[in-house]
Amino acid sequence: MFSLAGRVALVTGGNRGIGLAIAAGLAQAGATIVIAARDAQAGQDAATRLGPDSLFIATDVTSQDSCQAMVRATEDRFGRLDILVNNAGITRAARAQDISLPDWQSVLDINLTGAFLCAQAAYPAMRRQQAGKIINLGSLAAIFGTATAAAYAASKGGIVQLTRSLAVSWGADNIQVNAILPGYIDTGLTRRAEAERPGAFDAKRARTPAGRIGRPADIAGAAIFLASDAASFITGTSITVDGGYAIQL
Ligand code: NDP
Repeated sequence: MFSLAGRVALVTGGNRGIGLAIAAGLAQAGATIVIAARDAQAGQDAATRLGPDSLFIATDVTSQDSCQAMVRATEDRFGRLDILVNNAGITRAARAQDISLPDWQSVLDINLTGAFLCAQAAYPAMRRQQAGKIINLGSLAAIFGTATAAAYAASKGGIVQLTRSLAVSWGADNIQVNAILPGYIDTGLTRRAEAERPGAFDAKRARTPAGRIGRPADIAGAAIFLASDAASFITGTSITVDGGYAIQL
C-alpha cells in the first residue's frame, strides 16, 4: 500500500533541506526521483546521493517556461510523472510595515505562484495517466499570524486554499492534492532566520510538546503516505507535522 515502486516523483527545491529529505524518503519507498531547483551544483550532488536513476533539472519555479520544461524533461527521460512535490520556498524576515514590494513579490512568486505553475504544468501528464499526486508544502504560518513574515504567511495560507481548489478541480481525474504544514524544522531557511533573530530555535523548542525542533526527515513519512495508494481517498487536506506545536494552548 505504501510502495512507490514504478512511480516517478518530481520534487521542487529537492537539492537540500526538507525537499531533499522528502526526495530521499520517496526514493526509499521505491520512486524514481527528479529534483528541480536553481543551484545546479547542489542539485547534481543531491541527485548523485539519491542514486543512479535520479535526475536533476535546473528550474526556476517563478518561470512558467521553466516549469513546463521541467515536466517535459521528466517525461522525456522517464515517460511519466506520478508525484509532484511543490516544496520550493523562501522567506524574508521583516515587520509588515517594512516589507519591500520586491521582497513581497518574490515570496509570493516562489511560494505560491511557483506551486501553481508547477501543478498546472504537471496536470496534462497526470490527466493522461488518470492518476497523480500533488503535495504542497505549507507551514504553520498558514494557520497562525506572524509579525515578522506577513508575505510568507500570506503565501502559505494561499497554499492551503490552492490545495483545496486543485483537489476539487482535478478530483475526477483521480489526482489527489494535499498539503503538509511543517512545524519548525532545522534547515538553511530556519538557520538564516535564527542568525537574524537569535532565540527562535529555543522559543520554538520550548513551545513544542515533542520537546524538540523538527528534522527534515520528520517530513518524509507524511509525504510517502500522501504519495501512496494508502491515501487514494484523501484529497484537499492539510496535515500538520509539527511535534504538536499547533495543538497546544
Ligand atoms: P531551504 O532554504 O533549505 O530550501 C529551499 C529550497 O527551495 C531550496 O532547494 C531552493 O533551491 C529552492 N528554491 C528556492 N527558490 C526557488 C526557485 N525560484 N525555483 C526553484 N527552487 C527554488 O528551505 P526548507 O527546506 O526549510 O523549506 C522547504 C519548504 O518547506 C519551503 O516551502 C518552506 O516554506 C517550507 N517550510 C519550512 C519550514 C522550516 O521550518 N524549515 C517550516 C514550514 C514550512 P535553489 O536555491 O537551488 O533554487
